[in-house]
Amino acid sequence: MLESQGASGRLSEHLDALVARFPYARSLAQDPLSCVRPLAKDRASAEAAGLFAATLAIGNTTSIRRAFEDWLARCDGDLLAAVRARDRPGTPSAMRGFRHRWIRGDQLAFLAYRLHRIGKESGSLEEVFSSGRDGPAGFAGGLDALSSALRGPPGQHAPRGYRALFPSPLEGSHSPCKRLTLFVRWMVRSEYPDLGVWADVSPSELRIPLDQHVYWIAYHLGLTRRRTRSWAAVEEITAALRKFDPEDPVKYDFVLCHTGISGDCPKQRDMEVCGPCVLRPDCLLWHPRARGAA
Ligand code: SF4
Repeated sequence: MLESQGASGRLSEHLDALVARFPYARSLAQDPLSCVRPLAKDRASAEAAGLFAATLAIGNTTSIRRAFEDWLARCDGDLLAAVRARDRPGTPSAMRGFRHRWIRGDQLAFLAYRLHRIGKESGSLEEVFSSGRDGPAGFAGGLDALSSALRGPPGQHAPRGYRALFPSPLEGSHSPCKRLTLFVRWMVRSEYPDLGVWADVSPSELRIPLDQHVYWIAYHLGLTRRRTRSWAAVEEITAALRKFDPEDPVKYDFVLCHTGISGDCPKQRDMEVCGPCVLRPDCLLWHPRARGAA
């Protein structure tokens, strides 16, 4: 891997400049987190809204926000009340017909039922995560505990495809678990724009939610050489960012993700767009020999 300070030797300085000048309000309006924030009145309501929004976080942000609002309407505008009412499996008529990409209403209705059971059995998703995080696998163990609780025990006749919605980093596929990692970021970080409703988990423990935008830019900043979005890449990129900010390594996630979503980064050499990019001194598209020299 490139030395951690990138092609310029000043990558952390450039990333901090990007964070400092980033148009958060513009990008938050596009982000599914903008749908969650008004509903996050306390930990329980934040967990319910956050988990449904994170589960739907597939595809472009406009379609994710539209899907979330559709699901919210089918739950009469109160996701926590919908969870508390789902004391048995099954799909109420209002939830049938929901569809976002390959996610169906019967799967989300089952998720509401699982959240209901978790509330009864464990109290909160934070307690589930913490119980796994305190084991030998650390943060990955916390995600594994969440995955296991959300899937539920075998034999519950979950809807087709439901269990695949919640992969674990400890499984053979070594999924980057972007959606659960994003959910945990929302719950843990108290810095804007995140929610900070989990007091028992430190931001220093977080791992980067590795979507395609974050992966692309991390790869081209030399933060990883891995050619696939795997859990190993999550750990490698997070370790690199932790050198820049040990207390809050994932503070860079929102700006890296939205640099891609917004089109601020064209993912190709384009002087008109790349000219003012604060990361250009580190970008391997402009300094291709830097990786070879490392
Ligand atoms: S220099 Fe261009 S391609 Fe590289 S990160 Fe910046 S905007 Fe993206």
